[in-house]
Amino acid sequence: MSRVALVTGGSRGIGAAISVALKVAGYTVAANYAGNREAAAAFTAETGIRTYKWSVADYDACEAGRKEIEADLGPIDILVNNAGITRDAPFHKMTAQQWSEVIDTNLNGLFNMTHPVWPGMRERKFGRVINISSINGQKGQFGQANYSAAKAGDIGFTKALAQEGARAGITVNAICPGYIATEMVMSVPEKVRESIIGTIPVGRLGTPAEIARCVVFLASDDAGFITGATLTANGGQYLA
Ligand code: NDP
Repeated sequence: MSRVALVTGGSRGIGAAISVALKVAGYTVAANYAGNREAAAAFTAETGIRTYKWSVADYDACEAGRKEIEADLGPIDILVNNAGITRDAPFHKMTAQQWSEVIDTNLNGLFNMTHPVWPGMRERKFGRVINISSINGQKGQFGQANYSAAKAGDIGFTKALAQEGARAGITVNAICPGYIATEMVMSVPEKVRESIIGTIPVGRLGTPAEIARCVVFLASDDAGFITGATLTANGGQYLA
């Protein structure tokens, strides 16, 4: 029987590429999303991957989502904490709401989703938790005090949990993508995009598929000796 993978925010952008790559690699995949039903329905129609709606910012909803997926597909062996949002503003203009929304989704979301699946992984003595952090959690970014704090927190969470999971056969790793050609990045004016590309030594944006392949590797048995690691995939833009 194939292992079951849950990808949060798995219906669009990088998450969609991760869901598809895991399916192609032989996993049974569940893709969670927050509220864009249209995108989720189109994704399921195109890929056959089942989608499940809840917010990772809500602990009880994460626990209910875990139960629903495990009833439908079986125990979750692979968790990809990918769901993320931005609410950018220079700090002097950042509202408490902008701060909290980003922390609730991008940092608390990792606690909320990992905590419910953790006991099952411990019991079965196998698990993979893969957290999608960001280059901006490593280096900080103007206008993203909230996002940079959450994404740096994701790396600390990864390192601590890796130590707790090791003896139970659970690996916990983070991936830090640089600029990836998602809808968000492609929708910025071409001039701005060109100036971003100018700061990337390989001379181009990354692709969602390139991040997805990192996930497939970290999920595999071949990556069993890798835990607590931060895999940087940014075209050389920031050397952590
Ligand atoms: P998108 O905005 O394209 O997609 C976000 C996905 O997350 C959607 O499926 C969305 O659901 C879901 N989502 C948002 N909030 C929640 C929530 N509270 N609960 C559950 N699901 C939620 O994002 P990207 O593909 O650009 O980013 C994916 C991850 O990669 C994020 O963590 C981001 O921070 C990180 N990243 C992205 C980079 C980039 O260049 N794009 C660079 C570095 C890191 P719905 O469709 O319902 O809105």
